[in-house]
Amino acid sequence: MAGGDTHRATCQCGQLRVTTVGDPEIVIACSCLACQRRTGSPFGTGAYFREDRVSADGEAQVYARVADSGLDVSIRFCPRCGTSLYWTAELRPGHYGVAVGCFADPGFVEPARVVWSESQHPWVRFPDGVPVFPQGAPRPKAE
Ligand SMILES: [Zn+2]
Ligand SMILES: [Zn+2]
Repeated sequence: MAGGDTHRATCQCGQLRVTTVGDPEIVIACSCLACQRRTGSPFGTGAYFREDRVSADGEAQVYARVADSGLDVSIRFCPRCGTSLYWTAELRPGHYGVAVGCFADPGFVEPARVVWSESQHPWVRFPDGVPVFPQGAPRPKAE
């Protein structure tokens, strides 16, 4: 893998692990109802890395669904403790999203974008100046 600091994200029980290299390409906070259900929290936060900057080990199961964008998302979760740790999304080919909370690092990179604000809980606040989209953000450009 390419250079940069490595970070480790794990499920609750620790058997499923992801190691990332370098900073994420983008961190997105999403208040869509599916992310609320996935996380059990008012919003989900995903850090997106190019797939060559992510390695995973441990046993994972896959839950595939269609996102509100209309595109497929395949979530890898721990069959033992149920944490959904990382995913692939048709919206971002060639990338993995990793659940930011699973890094257990309060100093992790802040969200650069907030999406699905139309279903955001009204008491949730994000930093000033972060672009907010009522639904999904514009599609990323092909690289
Ligand atoms: Zn686990
Ligand atoms: Zn979402």
